[in-house]
Amino acid sequence: MNDPIALHLAQVRARLDAACAAAGRDPGAVRLLAVSKTRPAADVLAAARAGQVDFGENYAQELRDKVREVADSDAPQLRWHFIGHLQKNKVRYVAGVATLVHTVDSVELAQELGRRSPTPQGVLIQVNVGDEASKSGVRVDQALALCEAVAAVPNVAVRGLMTIPPARENPAEVAPFFRALRELAEEGRRRGLPLVELSMGMSSDFEVAIAEGATLVRVGTAIFGARPPITGR
Ligand SMILES: *Cc1c(COP(=O)(O)O)cnc(C)c1O
Repeated sequence: MNDPIALHLAQVRARLDAACAAAGRDPGAVRLLAVSKTRPAADVLAAARAGQVDFGENYAQELRDKVREVADSDAPQLRWHFIGHLQKNKVRYVAGVATLVHTVDSVELAQELGRRSPTPQGVLIQVNVGDEASKSGVRVDQALALCEAVAAVPNVAVRGLMTIPPARENPAEVAPFFRALRELAEEGRRRGLPLVELSMGMSSDFEVAIAEGATLVRVGTAIFGARPPITGR
């Protein structure tokens, strides 16, 4: 295995399997999303050749362009997820293209996704578990009301919750935020909401997220290496 992406991917899968074993969870219940933002289509193809199926993108036009580039190659069928902040005027690049939009935090955004998607659009509700001014997402105390409102939007299917916890030096310190998301989903399910998916955990803390019940982990750097700095987006 001399392709670095294939090697890193194998390392991440091994970490994922070990975290599932430690938590007594079935590794089949945790999906690995390879976060390919700012990475060229060639890197996506390298990961796809190593068996990776789910990819996450943060920028709407970049998603559209990369999906086209990859479709032109002989890559196997991939699944795309949108995990960045989404503006309503960019929904057309994402609706129906992403299997799941992880970052819905308003009814208006959900309505636009429903209008623009040819098939029912899967979405997650992004929750700002740390109540940080710098982060998008609905507040914890308003999250289930938003889930109920989005569940009523035509052509939209709510499937779960997503969060980006506050940054902490020690990954173990984010566990309470992941736990809060899981407990919120449990409360939602008691109210009859179909909150099955928990999208939480990145390169530095996905093992902690798995221990707290993540079903989707979003890993970029540990697979593709450090990203170039983001400019002018
Ligand atoms: C970039 C990004 C990731 C991946 O982060 P890494 O630390 O590179 O693994 C995960 N989730 C979201 C929402 C991101 O924007």
